[in-house]
Amino acid sequence: MHSIIPIKTEADLRKMRHAALILQQALQAVEAAIHPGVSTLELDQLVESLIVSKGAIPGFKGYNGFPASICASVNEEVVHGIPSANCILADGDIVGVDCGVYYDGFHTDACRTFLVGDPLPEVRHFVKITKKALDNAVKVIRHGAHVGDISAVIQKTIEDQGYSPVVECTGHGVGRDLHEPPEILNAGRKGTGPMLQAGMVLAVEPISTMGNGDVETLEDGWTVVSADGTPSAHFEHTILVTKNGSEILV
Ligand code: MG
Ligand code: MG
Repeated sequence: MHSIIPIKTEADLRKMRHAALILQQALQAVEAAIHPGVSTLELDQLVESLIVSKGAIPGFKGYNGFPASICASVNEEVVHGIPSANCILADGDIVGVDCGVYYDGFHTDACRTFLVGDPLPEVRHFVKITKKALDNAVKVIRHGAHVGDISAVIQKTIEDQGYSPVVECTGHGVGRDLHEPPEILNAGRKGTGPMLQAGMVLAVEPISTMGNGDVETLEDGWTVVSADGTPSAHFEHTILVTKNGSEILV
């Protein structure tokens, strides 16, 4: 019933760690560049030139036809926002920057939601809780745990604060392909789903909205927004499952 979840070799992991390091540097560059007045296209260009300068390839560009190196999703945009010169970040915005680096045959995938200037306290709290959902998910990942353990802790962390996980968007395995099995839902039951084994690499990505979690896709065919217009947040790590726990690659 389940498709095979790849187990990475040490040689695979050397390549993935190198890709992850470049992705970490790209996200740090974005963080340093974010301020009111910058466009999401400028962030995209910054990331793309950094990745290429390191001898790697932007993992998202051209993937299923996606036109850019980052997804930049502002406020009520949930995922897959297309960078644009017309999208100028303003004080009080939040922006999810999702990025992938492909190096020597392997993908890595990570996202952070950044604050622009000084968002409202309730929005900052919401972003913090979505980050906490990822931190809590990391704590349950180890050899022998189940994929459903990750889903359950993400759902609980978000719902306990009155927010909603976006169940249409899922995490996934990552490696030779950007999206590999298993699918990692953002809500689910402990003890269900495939068992994790040391050597699996997962892209775990809690995605939430301040409202009811329903989403729709805009006419550009990419940008997913919250149906009720409430802000959305997204955090993602590429994580190696180990015998006793996990290792965040990026
Ligand atoms: Mg991603
Ligand atoms: Mg992903």
